[in-house]
Amino acid sequence: MAEAALPIYWHGSVELVNEGIKKVKRGTVKELLPSAGGRPIYMVEYGKSNLPPRKANLSSALGGKDFNCYADKRGADYVPTVYFAGCIHGGEFEGTVAIMNLISLLETGVDLAGNKNDKLLSAAEKVHLILTPMCNPDGRSHIPFDNFVGHTFYDLRYYNQGIWKNGELCGWPECKQVHPIKDHVAYLGGYFNDDGVNMMHDNFFGHNANETQNVLDVCAEYAPDVAVLCHGGSNCPPLFTNLEYASGNSKREMIEMAKYIRPKYEAAGLVGFEKLGAGLESRAGEDAETPASFNLISAMHHCCGAPCITFESNQGLCDHGKLIFNNDQIYLSHMLMMEALCEWASDKYAK
Ligand SMILES: [Zn+2]
Repeated sequence: MAEAALPIYWHGSVELVNEGIKKVKRGTVKELLPSAGGRPIYMVEYGKSNLPPRKANLSSALGGKDFNCYADKRGADYVPTVYFAGCIHGGEFEGTVAIMNLISLLETGVDLAGNKNDKLLSAAEKVHLILTPMCNPDGRSHIPFDNFVGHTFYDLRYYNQGIWKNGELCGWPECKQVHPIKDHVAYLGGYFNDDGVNMMHDNFFGHNANETQNVLDVCAEYAPDVAVLCHGGSNCPPLFTNLEYASGNSKREMIEMAKYIRPKYEAAGLVGFEKLGAGLESRAGEDAETPASFNLISAMHHCCGAPCITFESNQGLCDHGKLIFNNDQIYLSHMLMMEALCEWASDKYAK
């Protein structure tokens, strides 16, 4: 179908991300392990970089009954670390766009449309930020356009989840029933790197794909106070998925963060966010007969002990449910989420 012109601020392609990273001057760019297909993956840092004093990894520190042995954040000069990562799945452009605009704000004082956002800028400047706009550039390269607004649910499944060799849609959750999926598909969707690995369900206790290892390494090394993987969830309302297999404390902190976000959405006139943060204390997933999977956010949590969030965004599909965000609403829902979580993190350590 014909694609409407994208907003000027919609920088979500591999090319625009790489160009944007080259322009970074105030931030510190680090090239991480490359993708399976050999594409570069970048991380950008802003603010005071913390590597909290450490004597043990997290598991051993907790075994020793003292989190501070893993990351001692009690220093008077400690600045909280907030980690935002986009494009875990290649057809989920929304977080990448938001992170590229946050980089623009921090570099130039305005977003990619030339607009100020002083609230977000001020909140972001109070924390140590780690930004990876595109964790899975291979998956991104599997999608021949930059935005799902106005596209159909069929398009989303075709391009993001792929097509089996018999011509049928892989679909969700069946696209997770074969892993890695590469040798089983006629069209390798955006979920996957060029080896057919879905980062959310990698081999965490064995050998991970580089894309996955990058995320886990950031968590283990920098000990973020909150980490967010930005996903697109077809036309779902903005929400946090449950962090299964995590400490009760982190689940409660996620509920606190949702409480920070909701009034901002309400004031901005966004709708459908009432369930943001609902059910996060539930352990029903773990206790179910087929238990919830131990996925990437759980793995991240066990590297850093912090709340690790899957933030699902509405994707503006034209034919899937009643809640259909436009580009500006998608953008706003991310910028307010990032503002709220930076505020939450700096408030946590406010003396
Ligand atoms: Zn996703």
